[in-house]
Amino acid sequence: MEKYQVLKQYFGYTSFKEGQEELVDSILAGWDVLGIMPTGAGKSICYQVPALCMGGITIVVSPLISLMMDQVKALNQAGVHAAYINSSLTENQIAKALQNATMGQYKIIYVAPERLETERFLYFALNADISMVTIDEAHCISQWGQDFRPSYLKILQFIDRLPVRPIVSAFTATATTVVRKDILEILCLQNPKVLVTGFDRENLFFEVRTGKNKDDQLLHYLQNHLEESGIIYCATRKNVEKVCEFLESRGLPVTRYHAGLSPQERKENQEDFIYDRKPIVVATNAFGMGIDKSNVRYVVHYNMPQSLENYYQEAGRAGRDGMSAECVILYSPQDVHINKYLIENRGENSELTEEQAELVLKNDRERLWAMAGYCKTNYCLREYILRYFGTSRWQDISGKYCGNCSVCVNASERQEYDTYGYKDFWDEYDAYESNGYTGVVYDEKKDIVYFGAKYEKMGAGRGIGPNIGGGKGAGKQSAYGTGVYGESAVNKRGAGSETFSVEQLTEKQQELFKQLKALRLRIAKAVSLPPYMIFTDKTLLEMSVKCPTNKQEMLQISGVGENKYQRYGEDFEEVILQHL
Ligand code: ADP
Ligand code: MG
Repeated sequence: MEKYQVLKQYFGYTSFKEGQEELVDSILAGWDVLGIMPTGAGKSICYQVPALCMGGITIVVSPLISLMMDQVKALNQAGVHAAYINSSLTENQIAKALQNATMGQYKIIYVAPERLETERFLYFALNADISMVTIDEAHCISQWGQDFRPSYLKILQFIDRLPVRPIVSAFTATATTVVRKDILEILCLQNPKVLVTGFDRENLFFEVRTGKNKDDQLLHYLQNHLEESGIIYCATRKNVEKVCEFLESRGLPVTRYHAGLSPQERKENQEDFIYDRKPIVVATNAFGMGIDKSNVRYVVHYNMPQSLENYYQEAGRAGRDGMSAECVILYSPQDVHINKYLIENRGENSELTEEQAELVLKNDRERLWAMAGYCKTNYCLREYILRYFGTSRWQDISGKYCGNCSVCVNASERQEYDTYGYKDFWDEYDAYESNGYTGVVYDEKKDIVYFGAKYEKMGAGRGIGPNIGGGKGAGKQSAYGTGVYGESAVNKRGAGSETFSVEQLTEKQQELFKQLKALRLRIAKAVSLPPYMIFTDKTLLEMSVKCPTNKQEMLQISGVGENKYQRYGEDFEEVILQHL
């Protein structure tokens, strides 16, 4: 099938998002690819569409069971034959799944990296027609990434054993140069197309609040966001318990998640959240990878996280559907101390050598300082993040406001945005960097502004900067891609443009939106699926505005594909007709 046909029929979209089409085209032309796109940018489509266009099977390596289950459920909803093989299945179920796979029943198979080494899976793979191996969350391969998984290192061995080398595609949201280089080198990507999309998530509003009483602030915030779904991240289990109890006592529909709960309870709580039975979850960072819930409207960090990598990933879980959403940190200086303590007392990781452990610790500390800098900066928060990841909105910051972060919103109101300081600050960082200086950058008041350290490459002793601070603009990006694609690092559109929100609807449209959501919830309950897997908020919002009442009109709505239409289309038409 042709790519646009696949996109429309299975996923209900008529156009690709930034970067998707280039990656799909490269794969279809037989190239290896590395796609670096922020959380919520739509990486899955980049390999799922070609997987369906090509003959043979695509194997997707994924780090978490919950992530695989979520993806496979969503694919099955879209009418795609997909399966996962992991430790949640019994040996009998695995045998059955592999038997089905051998008979060509699945186009896409998700596996944990450990699975690739097992006899049974290898036997299957050696005798199957495998067109592509995809490595999702590919940063797990790098000890410089925040979720290093040594078993990812074995993926290459697996690929090398296959009788015909498949196309290899890798995807991650981690954009630092070291991690990117590790992925390319360790996976031995052949002549790959590397594509880095803009890291700007325009629909996200960023805010740092520094008030005294976090509980009061949080409560006040949530009372202004009733009926919306959101995540509240805390640094420790104890905090999760405390905050959850507090919110419960105030009558909010909240659940909790951390590694101290039994697996059963974690599963139940996660489902309560995903199925919108308890639309608010208080959690440690154990929660989230594998949560593709698209209607998360806010992510509040009750404590500052340990790194901007973590922060952008966690905050990025807001607004995956493209509608406006908020990312708020409730910052107190205490958070820096808590995190420092957590980093320094993490316990031994037996998978690492002593030297490796030391370097991981050093890098973690440096990441923490950069994070602290974000909470204290007087500069555009969006720009701060983008520069950390090696991109930028503006070459020259003077007089520019993103208009969608707390600093810029307040600055433009107060008319006292200190552009001089901003430029000065990055110049200073650049100077430090080019002198190979490693250390903290202070402002006059000796507050930490930013930590300008260089990362060291393990063993070799080479200094490879993670592009922190990124220098002046996107031009500084180094391209590993050898193909025709340059790296589109700058996102030209203004923040907040092209985003939708419920407030923009008329009263009558809002009423319909409510009814459509209610219908979605009824269907979701009946078929035991999370509501967002039936249709996303964005899809329902578009229906509320365009009021489609027949198949042709319905299929024009973004997110309504052939399969979904057949399953649910008429039910939604009926509600719309009644409303009209
Ligand atoms: P990532 O893995 O990059 O974090 P996902 O693959 O989970 O992102 O996709 C995020 C959201 O974007 C999903 O809700 C998905 O349905 C939506 N999406 C992906 N591609 C498109 C597209 N071409 N048009 C509209 N929505 C899309
Ligand atoms: Mg993903």
